[in-house]
Amino acid sequence: MNKEQIVAAEKQYYMPVFARNPIVLSYGKGPYVYDNEGNKYLDFLAGIAVNLLGHAHPKLVSAIAEQAGKLIHCSNLYYTEVQTLLAKKIAEVSGMDKVFICNSGAEANEGAMKLARKYAKKIHPDKIDIITAEHCFHGRTLATLTATAQPKYQKGFEPLPAGFKYVPFNNFSALEAAVDDQTCALMLEPVQGEGGINMPDEDYLAKVRTLCNDKKIVLIFDEIQSGMGRTGTMFACQQYGVKPDIMTVAKGLGGGVPIGAFMATNEVANVFSPGDHGTTFGGNPLVCAAANAVLAAIDEEGILSNVQTVGAYMAAALQQLKNKYPAIIQEIRGKGLMLGMQLNQPGADIVAGCLKKGLIINCTAGNVLRFVPSLNITKQHVDEFILILDSVLREKQ
Ligand SMILES: *Cc1c(COP(=O)(O)O)cnc(C)c1O
Repeated sequence: MNKEQIVAAEKQYYMPVFARNPIVLSYGKGPYVYDNEGNKYLDFLAGIAVNLLGHAHPKLVSAIAEQAGKLIHCSNLYYTEVQTLLAKKIAEVSGMDKVFICNSGAEANEGAMKLARKYAKKIHPDKIDIITAEHCFHGRTLATLTATAQPKYQKGFEPLPAGFKYVPFNNFSALEAAVDDQTCALMLEPVQGEGGINMPDEDYLAKVRTLCNDKKIVLIFDEIQSGMGRTGTMFACQQYGVKPDIMTVAKGLGGGVPIGAFMATNEVANVFSPGDHGTTFGGNPLVCAAANAVLAAIDEEGILSNVQTVGAYMAAALQQLKNKYPAIIQEIRGKGLMLGMQLNQPGADIVAGCLKKGLIINCTAGNVLRFVPSLNITKQHVDEFILILDSVLREKQ
């Protein structure tokens, strides 16, 4: 099918929920993807912070191919070595004790909230409320979209599950005021992604940790976007020296295959007993082999230090663009290779302008350009990115 035929057939057969960009992608290599008309794009979105190692990374491709030839799926009624090795590795890098592997970010957050509810009810049966932060994003299932404190995602899907409360992000006194005897858990993204790359103050998460200890509240960090090396450490919370009781991860974990996980301390995890939670596909050998390959590559290829170096280089280059276009650009935010450019105007036409010139980025929260490229990009790729973005901004001023 050519592009027009694909676009028409998608309109006829696919549920109309996605506002797709007008290109048909067919393959990728490293930080580049190619459309079905032969055009090349520098991919600084990486499947929304998913393709950590870029496209078609040889180690990831061979790990998937090898495992596919052995055992793709067998259910969680049996043990597999790949899954156990992955659980061990995730526990080690997160500093958590026990791991549950599932298929997506929303599913990881669902599991995290179930676990928090079960644990907190043992402290007191009234402890049921889950507090989340304004502008957060936790997923699209009924419970996770209720956790997602943004009316635009909830409208039309009422009645929403009960037991959720919202507070402004990064506002400790508002949080203190919202907490009461019914509070079960607080779920936060250490760095908010979808909400516009919003950063906490340096001491916010530590204060939150202390409050949660004092009030016996389960602290859940949603590191689905900020985790897996994205900010220059394995998880963003590690840069703030704060450990949650439960952590969720997905997006980059499998380098592109659908996988998520939630992890917890033994104290919390051990309230689960057989039958409390489950999944048919979650943690199957295929996706675990992929995630093991991603984690091995992060170690072997010096990914974290690359994120730190290239991230700092990119942040500095974006800052220069801000100085050059003060009327358009309000602020540069973020850490590592999770960077955002707050604009003084909607970002959609800049995204479209970049696409025309061979650069893939996206805009979130209406006016924040979000840059979440693969973690193994080089300074040369950043130079190429800046050149295109600069030329698009120049036309907009
Ligand atoms: C993307 C995202 C989710 C949802 O993940 P899905 O895999 O789309 O269900 C949840 N939390 C955060 C922080 C995310 O960025």
